[in-house]
Amino acid sequence: MDNVFKIIFLVCMIVAEVIRFPHRQRNKREMRQKKLAESRISPLDFALDMLAFTGMEIIPLIYIFTSWLSFANYTLPAVLGWLGAVIFVMALWLLWRSHKDLGLNWSPTLQITQEHKLVTQGVYHVIRHPIYAAMWLWGVAQVLLLQNWIAGPATLIFFGIVYFRRTPREEQMMIDRFGDEYRTYMRQTGRVLPKLSK
Ligand code: SAH
Repeated sequence: MDNVFKIIFLVCMIVAEVIRFPHRQRNKREMRQKKLAESRISPLDFALDMLAFTGMEIIPLIYIFTSWLSFANYTLPAVLGWLGAVIFVMALWLLWRSHKDLGLNWSPTLQITQEHKLVTQGVYHVIRHPIYAAMWLWGVAQVLLLQNWIAGPATLIFFGIVYFRRTPREEQMMIDRFGDEYRTYMRQTGRVLPKLSK
């Protein structure tokens, strides 16, 4: 069973890369032509992004392909592994859908271009950070699929650090650029969980 869950994780991770690849490529192309209105990245942000990547992909790959971490394995009932698979598929759908909704406004770092539009449609109508929500779902799926005390929680811990630093700074950047339009949008939406009381 263990191996089945490892394979499911690996396939989902590859699908996530396939979903993100064209957006990364397009962003690289566009950035050569577009004028930036805002950019809020520091070397620390870059280091933190690398940390999240390590938790989401590098440590899982080490766990899947070597036995170095096997001293820290745990075993969960099979049904929880399957639940992890379902959660990862939900994360992939959300990742795909958010990239589609955000379109040209997506960037891997905190940036705003001259042509930037505030997106409040699609999944952005309900939550402000669906891509980060997808990462949280990925983190939960990882705990259930990679049954190891090091590889399992790596995304929840490392992405968690990135999330709590990045989200307030991203929202401040959006407020500085879009002002009341973004403040109103914030009142109508939840960060990663849909707002029930509007
Ligand atoms: N936090 C969002 C987007 C991540 S991509 C999410 O989790 O889905 C990061 C870039 O998206 C930021 O640089 C910001 O400029 C842009 N962005 C975030 N929310 C946006 C929105 N509602 N409309 C347009 N651009 C947005």
